[in-house]
Amino acid sequence: MQLRFHSENAYPMSTDSGRVLVAAKSMALFEMDAVCEAVLHYAQIRPACSLEQLTAALADRFPAEEIAETVHEFVRLHIFETEAPDPSVSIPELDVEHFPVSSVVVNVANKCNLHCTYCYEPDEAKYGPTPVQMDWPTAQASVDFLFQKSGQSREVNLIFFGGEALLNFKLMRQVVAYAEQKAQTEDKAVDFSITTNGTLLTDSVIDFFQAHRFGITVSIDGPPDLHDKRRSFLTAGGQRKGSYQVLAPRLERLFARYTARPVVARVTVTKDAIDIVRTYEHLTGLGFFEVGFSPVTATDGADYGLEPADLHEVLAGFRQLGSLYVERAVAGSYTGFSNLSTLLTDIHVGTNKFFPCGAGLGLLDVDGNGDVYLCHRFPGSEEHHYGNVKDGLDYDRLNAFVNKAHLGNKTVCQTCWVRGLCGGGCYHEAMTQFGDALHPNLHYCDFLRAWTEYGIGVYMELQRKTPGFVEQYVLRGRGDAPKELT
Ligand code: SF4
Ligand code: SF4
Repeated sequence: MQLRFHSENAYPMSTDSGRVLVAAKSMALFEMDAVCEAVLHYAQIRPACSLEQLTAALADRFPAEEIAETVHEFVRLHIFETEAPDPSVSIPELDVEHFPVSSVVVNVANKCNLHCTYCYEPDEAKYGPTPVQMDWPTAQASVDFLFQKSGQSREVNLIFFGGEALLNFKLMRQVVAYAEQKAQTEDKAVDFSITTNGTLLTDSVIDFFQAHRFGITVSIDGPPDLHDKRRSFLTAGGQRKGSYQVLAPRLERLFARYTARPVVARVTVTKDAIDIVRTYEHLTGLGFFEVGFSPVTATDGADYGLEPADLHEVLAGFRQLGSLYVERAVAGSYTGFSNLSTLLTDIHVGTNKFFPCGAGLGLLDVDGNGDVYLCHRFPGSEEHHYGNVKDGLDYDRLNAFVNKAHLGNKTVCQTCWVRGLCGGGCYHEAMTQFGDALHPNLHYCDFLRAWTEYGIGVYMELQRKTPGFVEQYVLRGRGDAPKELT
């Protein structure tokens, strides 16, 4: 039998719990034994060989049956191929019309009461003379759109986003009432969530969230010295004023009154404001159940973007918090470090994606005018505009984008061992960095690979030291819709 080694499908790594082989085509993990190491080593030196040659070369160390068994396993995992690839096999063509849209992000308000320096929404949109506020006919059409496009899905998700969504709270109330009524008639469940800057939370808003079991994510960047660096108000005199002081008492009210679901903090990690463990401890001390960190990579002219050296610092902070995670897990408690919990979930279930996220495939964004975009980060982009909730989706455009976005079309990703977890990287990040949403996120790859390798080490350690912990405490639903939007 002829064997051709596919190094892109095999990533061996060392962890504190021993050697692990990542079978990159399926994202499955294997603890390596001596035969596995030897077969892999031979294949690395002789990428094209026969089973007979391989068996003969290792005959003095291992019985032929054990070698054959390992080779068979490698063939199953596409680490060895026994036949030349069939050139007629191509990437399957998707028709998004057949994908139910189960999540819609509604930008109920384009304006914002804060002036965060890193915000990706253009200033004219938020602070111009006529920032777009969604009106009732558009909101109603957005809900109808979601239900209509959700097909057979039993659950639909309405995600409120801005600007600052609470600037249009009146409309939110109307939308929720209408969506609940519609869910009842259509025999579906509707789930609501919001990402907010928290500065407009009041008791009545909180009670409304409680009554409708909103999933709440608050954008907060840490203790005052870190948060106020870039999350600020702009005074009438043009001065920047940190928002922490306004936010803190409102969070206190939130944690005192809201019990329906765990509340998540979303931290934007920027230059000169990297202090992962301190930020985590501060935010969980306030009452947040989980904290998710979103590192912002550098773009030309911005003073907040993280350069490669900063990303190293973020990674070091992630590892430090990861050690606490393991330590506390062994002692029987859960650490709400959502980046790590998400990664551990992906590793555990063997996530293997062809797309980075559900944008365009199950998730769409509707802006204040009813225009439909890939996700909450794209409103205003002509290139990623896919129709309007009142006139319908432009399936031709959306199909063209999604089919081009398939991981299989990103040449450089084909040899990357984390491709099944990455899916080629966030479209918006790619557009910001490379001017093309379809570009692989090459500025982020080293970080992602190092972080994934670390996560696999943590996963193995948890399985060894506290078996069952991941299943019991860490696994979370991983629908395509990112409920904690950044
Ligand atoms: S974008 Fe980078 S990390 Fe992601 S799959 Fe491609 S090469 Fe790998
Ligand atoms: S990962 Fe990027 S493209 Fe996907 S939903 Fe998030 S911001 Fe949008």
